[in-house]
Amino acid sequence: MAQNCSPWIDDELAMLRDSAARFIARELAPHAPDWERAGQVDATAWRKAAEVGLLGAGIPEIYGGGGGTRAHEAVIQQELARAGLAGSFGICHGIHSTIVAHYILSYGVEAQRQRWLPALVNADLIGAIAMTEPGTGSDLQAVRATAVREGDHYRLNGQKTFISNGQTATLILVLARTGAQAGAGGLSLLAVETQGAEGFRRGRKLEKLGLHGQDTSELFFDDVMVPAENLLGGHEGEGFAQLMHQLAWERLSIGITAVANMERAVALTTEYVRERKAFGKALLEFQNTQFVLADAKTQATVGRHFLDALIVKLLADELDATTAAMAKLWLTDTAFKVIDACQQLFGGYGYMAEYPIARLFADSRVSRVYGGANEIMKLIIARSL
Ligand SMILES: Cc1cc2nc3c(=O)[nH]c(=O)nc-3n(C[C@H](O)[C@H](O)[C@H](O)COP(=O)(O)OP(=O)(O)OC[C@H]3O[C@@H](n4cnc5c(N)ncnc54)[C@H](O)[C@@H]3O)c2cc1C
Repeated sequence: MAQNCSPWIDDELAMLRDSAARFIARELAPHAPDWERAGQVDATAWRKAAEVGLLGAGIPEIYGGGGGTRAHEAVIQQELARAGLAGSFGICHGIHSTIVAHYILSYGVEAQRQRWLPALVNADLIGAIAMTEPGTGSDLQAVRATAVREGDHYRLNGQKTFISNGQTATLILVLARTGAQAGAGGLSLLAVETQGAEGFRRGRKLEKLGLHGQDTSELFFDDVMVPAENLLGGHEGEGFAQLMHQLAWERLSIGITAVANMERAVALTTEYVRERKAFGKALLEFQNTQFVLADAKTQATVGRHFLDALIVKLLADELDATTAAMAKLWLTDTAFKVIDACQQLFGGYGYMAEYPIARLFADSRVSRVYGGANEIMKLIIARSL
């Protein structure tokens, strides 16, 4: 589909796209069934991805990164989804490289950037971000985890849940209350280096409807002493504002996967209905099949153009929170509808886990919930009315 016409993909990005696609097909995709059985990506995959520059492609070279921009991260995200890895290495990469590394680049003081970015790029550290708690997800101002300053440390207490990379992460940005102030003003992000962190415990690897090739976990922090120098940005009370500023990019990156998944669903289904016969003819010959796929292809194409336009805005530093919320809302809702309609054309085979369309269906459901539920996107958009 529109894979070669995105206006933001220049020659250099096209080369990255092609080499990433080859590497992913050769070195990562064959291992997806193993990751699905294990419920997580293995350390070798992280290392290999680091070696070829798939981690931190948008991080400056002085911190060990690829020296690119968020367009480089977007290209890699897109290729992982195109290869069918959105529910495994795709989300791992999204959290680690697209989100955590960019928080540190954007808000970290120089010492924090120098300490953590090269380690993330090399996969010496695996990143996660822990905001959601059992009692609160959409309303992050109600976070209850506390980080109380004691000398040159913070004493961190709290529980987090649904944390992607939760079983494997070794550098976790934790949203906690550092001040007595209620609401957003009292929140900060603390980077917890898990190795040797007494009082830190990982809960179970959560069993999910989809995303079987990656780990999602509960995390427990009981009197974990975190060095004060690990406060992201060095000032208390900035956590909520940091989250809000990154969310536009985070939401757009969810849209990147949604569009790639839609395009993949249309391609997989078109191939299937050409071959599958019913009542003596190929399914594609039924007008209903043609109409469903014509509609699906139209939605995917509209989604692609909307996404491309917003990536251009993002790269020009002009993407606002409202438009990013529209992208997350529309692209994930539409992707789910398109994938559902495509799955129907597979009949019973579409329900079998061995068929990629079944996994696309299960994997894409959560994109309407995480990164801010789509109802929250509507609230954000409504504020602009
Ligand atoms: C697979 C997976 C991975 C995740 N990864 C991470 C991660 O890495 N880090 C992290 O911190 N979190 C993560 N999350 C958590 C995710 O961001 C939250 O689940 C999400 O923000 C919703 O929060 P909640 O589950 O507490 O739902 P709730 O806040 O309880 O909301 C439930 C539903 O109520 C409705 N609702 C809520 N508020 C409003 C409102 N104001 N107006 C109208 N309707 C409303 C919405 O329909 C919403 O879906 C992940 C979740 C999943 C499932």
